Amino acid sequence: MELWYTENHTDYARFSMKVKQHLFTGQSDFQRVDIIETYEFGKVLTIDGLVMVTEKDEFIYHEMIAHVPLATNPNIKKVLVIGGGDGGTVRELTRHHSIEKIDMVEIDEMVVRSCQKHLPITSAKLEDERVTLYFEDGIQFVEGKENRYDLIIVDSTDPIGPGEGLFTTEFYQNCYKALTSEGILVNQNESPYYDRDKREFQRANKKIKRIFPICEVYQFHMPTYPSGHWLFGFASKKLHPIHDYQPESWVALQLKTKYYNPDLHKGAFALPTYVKELINNEEA
Ligand code: SAM
Repeated sequence: MELWYTENHTDYARFSMKVKQHLFTGQSDFQRVDIIETYEFGKVLTIDGLVMVTEKDEFIYHEMIAHVPLATNPNIKKVLVIGGGDGGTVRELTRHHSIEKIDMVEIDEMVVRSCQKHLPITSAKLEDERVTLYFEDGIQFVEGKENRYDLIIVDSTDPIGPGEGLFTTEFYQNCYKALTSEGILVNQNESPYYDRDKREFQRANKKIKRIFPICEVYQFHMPTYPSGHWLFGFASKKLHPIHDYQPESWVALQLKTKYYNPDLHKGAFALPTYVKELINNEEA
C-alpha cells in the first residue's frame, strides 16, 4: 500500500510527498503536530496539516532568516526568536559567536519536544548555553519590553490559529519598542504568489511600513511551501540591508553555508515586478 501526504496549496492546487512512515502525531492546546518521514524530503514537521520544515530544504529558510540580518549588522548581541520551535533559526544564530544571548519564545512545547526527538538536524542547538527557552505566547512576551534586543526574528506559522496575533500592528509596534536603536525585525512574510498568501503578505508589509523607517522585503526559493516562492520582511530603525551591508565581516567568519552568500544577499532584495506592485498597491 502506498502512503502519501497531500497538502492543499489552494482549493485547486495540491502538493504531495510519498511517505515512508508516520513518526509522531499529537494534539496540543494550540494545534495538531505531526512528524512524517518521506522519500524525497526526509523527515517533515507539519502543523495543522501544513508543512513547516523538511530535512531537505530547511537550510534555505534558516540560512536566509538568520544570516541576512547578521551580515547587515555584525554587532548584534541580543536576539529574540518568536516561534521557531523546530530550532533551525536558533541553530543558524548560534554559529555567530558574537551573539551573547538568544531568547526563544515558542507557544507550543509539543513542537520543541517532538523536534528534539525526531528532528535533531534543526533542534540540536537549542541547548546552547546562550539560549533560553520560554514556552509562552510571543505576543504577550514583547509587550512592555523596551530597548532589549538588537534583532527580533518572527519565525511564525501562518496568520491563523496562535500565529494570528503575530501579524498585527500592535505586535509590530511592541517589537519596535523592544528593539535597540539599530534594531532589526525579520518576519516570515508569506508568499506573493497565490491569492490568500499574497493578501497576508501585503497586509503585514503595509503595517510594518507605517512603523519602521526602513522596510524591505527579500525572497528565497522554498520547494515545499506553496508556489515555492517565499518572502521575509526586513524592517529596521537605522540599518539598510543593502546600503549598510558589510560582506567583509560575514566573509571573515568563514561560515560554510549551502544557500546564503554575499551575492545572493544583494540579489534577494531585487524583487520581480509583480511583487513590487503588490508592495506599492496601497489599496490592499
Ligand atoms: N518555518 C515555518 C514556516 O514558515 O512554515 C515556521 C516554523 S515554526 C515551527 C512556527 C512556530 O510558531 C510553531 O511552532 C508555532 O507553535 C509557533 N507560534 C505560533 N504562534 C505563536 C505565538 N503567538 N507565540 C509563539 N510562538 C508561536
